[in-house]
Amino acid sequence: MITAQAVVYTQHGEPKDVLTTHKYEIDDDNLDKNSIVIRTLGSPVNPSDINQIQGVYPSKPEKTTELGTAEPAAVCGNEGLFEVVKVGAGVSKFKAGDWCIPTKVNFGTWRTHALCSDEQMIKVPNPADCKARGREPLTVNQGATISVNPLTAYLMLTHYVKLEPGKDWFIQNGGNSAVGRYASQIGALLGINSISVVRDRPNFEEFARKLSTENGATHVITEEQNNSREFGPEVKKWTKATGGEIKLALNCVGGKSSAGVARKLAPNGLMLTYGGMSMQPVTLPTSLHIFKNITSAGFWVTQLLKSDLDLKLRTLSQIIEWYETRQLKDSPSHENHFSPDADLAACYIHAVDSSKQGKQLVVY
Ligand code: NDP
Repeated sequence: MITAQAVVYTQHGEPKDVLTTHKYEIDDDNLDKNSIVIRTLGSPVNPSDINQIQGVYPSKPEKTTELGTAEPAAVCGNEGLFEVVKVGAGVSKFKAGDWCIPTKVNFGTWRTHALCSDEQMIKVPNPADCKARGREPLTVNQGATISVNPLTAYLMLTHYVKLEPGKDWFIQNGGNSAVGRYASQIGALLGINSISVVRDRPNFEEFARKLSTENGATHVITEEQNNSREFGPEVKKWTKATGGEIKLALNCVGGKSSAGVARKLAPNGLMLTYGGMSMQPVTLPTSLHIFKNITSAGFWVTQLLKSDLDLKLRTLSQIIEWYETRQLKDSPSHENHFSPDADLAACYIHAVDSSKQGKQLVVY
């Protein structure tokens, strides 16, 4: 018997007000044929996890009494890395010691252990698998945060517009965000040029140089530069030099910044909006629609991959290969270590409170 802990909520609200720790038993000696028992290695706090708890996110886990709670409850968390502890007699996909991640969102990853079917997990290489293939091992942070941000960046760059390597460009605001850093790195790996627009800061030159050298951005410019008429010819010079066009804009900021990146698009270009960090509506000059035939569309990784497991597996496999060959750097997280005698909900509430200081990962 394993005594497991999960962070649950029965009502929506602010995490500190509604999250509690629920303890429950997993009978690992009497597993169903297709069941597996897994233990958590790490799970992050993403903005969407917090929004789910608040009740303002469109994709929600079902509340049930499956874990023996007095009222129907949902387990928090969507991303996480797990290790297989035990498998049922009919499971051939996994063995003890394998690493895995949830097949779908809403799994409830903020918990110490889970009992689930083998279908609910996708295998990812554990350190021994990587070593056997002469590759570098995936880190817990890479595995636990692989499903959302790297996949978002890769799919936005590859799934909508054909960008010609060596010639074409994409422009993005929030160039310093985790998704933005993945996008510029993946752009560089695919041979696509990028312009990362970031908010101005005191040490801008050094900051921009780092985003270029460490994260593959071809050019890094400030919002002010991107919005100034004088800077336009400079950008034209860059695209002319490669003989390509800016065919794609990635927008995670909204407001004036979205107009700024859309203005740089070539005729018939596409702007994908995937976030709204400024909390301002997306604004686009009418003339861009009429005279340049710009398309503005949304991107939501959850929706895109919901009914296309094959696309998810192919994308994961590419990201894993880049991680294992150390061609892609993960976005660092602040680690919060959970010790079994501590309160799990308190650990995640602390991580949620700290999430404005950067991505938080709870490590078990
Ligand atoms: P990070 O926390 O890593 O980065 C946040 C970024 O937003 C930073 O670059 C920051 O800039 C910028 N920012 C913060 N506040 C403002 C503001 N008021 N105006 C302009 N810029 C601001 O974020 P993630 O990469 O994890 O996520 C980015 C966005 O993408 C989020 O909205 C997230 O919910 C969304 N997302 C959406 C997905 C989808 O499928 N639609 C999937 C994954 C993420 P600075 O460096 O200057 O502080």
